[in-house]
Amino acid sequence: MTETFDYVVIGNSAAGLQAVRTIRKHNRDVSVVIIDREDHPAYSRVLTPYYVGGKTERDNLFIVDHDYYQREGITTLFGRNVVALDADKHQLEMADGSRVEFGRLLLATGAEARTLTVTSDRACTLRHMADAEKLEVLMNKAHSITAIGAGLVSLPLLSHAPESAEKHLVVGSNRIFSQMVDAESSAFLEERFQKSGLQLHKQDDIVKIDEGERLQLTLASGGRLTTDMLIIGKGVTPNIDLAREAGLQVNDGVLVDDYCCTSHADVYAAGDAAEGKDFVTRQPTIQGNWMTAVEQGENAALNMLGMTCAYEGSLKNNITEVFGVDIAAIGYCQDDASQIISTYNQASGRSRKIFLNERRRVIGAILIGETNDAGLYYHWVRTHSVFPGKQALQRTNTYASFLNRLA
Ligand SMILES: Cc1cc2nc3c(=O)[nH]c(=O)nc-3n(C[C@H](O)[C@H](O)[C@H](O)COP(=O)(O)OP(=O)(O)OC[C@H]3O[C@@H](n4cnc5c(N)ncnc54)[C@H](O)[C@@H]3O)c2cc1C
Repeated sequence: MTETFDYVVIGNSAAGLQAVRTIRKHNRDVSVVIIDREDHPAYSRVLTPYYVGGKTERDNLFIVDHDYYQREGITTLFGRNVVALDADKHQLEMADGSRVEFGRLLLATGAEARTLTVTSDRACTLRHMADAEKLEVLMNKAHSITAIGAGLVSLPLLSHAPESAEKHLVVGSNRIFSQMVDAESSAFLEERFQKSGLQLHKQDDIVKIDEGERLQLTLASGGRLTTDMLIIGKGVTPNIDLAREAGLQVNDGVLVDDYCCTSHADVYAAGDAAEGKDFVTRQPTIQGNWMTAVEQGENAALNMLGMTCAYEGSLKNNITEVFGVDIAAIGYCQDDASQIISTYNQASGRSRKIFLNERRRVIGAILIGETNDAGLYYHWVRTHSVFPGKQALQRTNTYASFLNRLA
């Protein structure tokens, strides 16, 4: 059986949902289908650690319900896996042998969590709803929880776990959140998290898991840990097989131009599967955050509709709360920035770092302890704003509250 649509979107998450929303906002006449191998309305992966830790209900994860697609005239093929793309024939092959033909296609296929070579029934990554459901059951009865990998999966999960549970984090490198913040901020956060009971095992790995009533983990350093479950947060691999096998240009992700278009004129890509220009460095980057996926999904849809519209580039934009500490990392936040302005208030525990380029324009910020004004920094980076300087800030009422937070 072959079905034909004007617009086909693979991936019903941040990028794909924003794309179909944008298509429908501008055109209610074209035919649109969204395909996903998961069988749910779109949900927030960002919120899944809260569900696993019992801080929110499963129902609260959903962004839209089934009726949404029907109301908007969007056909859904959920629970269906796309196994091959023929870009020149404008055709997709599904796992069940059926075919879908498209006028224009968006690859919003995201990424899969990397796993370990050693495994157990009580070890799990967190990427999909089924993972969240499994982890929720395991966490409910765990007295000791171990995670490996120190990013946006392991740390929020450990921090939302029951307070009574023992919490271990095994980290391959010598610091946490190394993809998100600079070394000094990592050290600052490690101290705060350790005070909340996190036990860190840095520059280490898990080489063996022995099953039993409890799991016995053997570490590369020779140490051993007894635990009830293992969370695997070792980063992600973008889903680019369809694109690669179709002969599209790929690197780590599917390469896209400033219009989110791939090397084939009728195939676009957005979100965690797409590698496009970073706003600050201008280098091809996979940003791996929700906001970038939404922005690229929207941009791709506009261009698929023929409204030529350049995307200025993606920005790091991670805002989270871990062990009660609010953290935001926006834009370029590494030690080699031309200038770094930092403040630390011991009484409040707030730390702020503003990263400037050689022309004193704001290129990034790390806010720890309070993130309410993260949007202001995002705006400054996006608008190439010159940092006004602490003294100038002091003279302006507009920024008075900002200054209070800075100090
Ligand atoms: C636990 C966790 C916490 C996170 N925390 C944050 C955070 O605090 N802040 C932040 O900004 N980001 C966070 N992220 C990252 C954020 O969720 C991703 O950047 C975002 O989901 C990317 O959206 P996407 O639409 O590109 O892809 P995805 O969300 O990965 O969705 C891709 C979809 O495509 C489907 N698919 C793939 N291939 C096929 C195929 N061949 N056939 C059919 N369907 C297919 C998949 O089933 C999937 O549903 C977090 C992610 C996780 C997992």
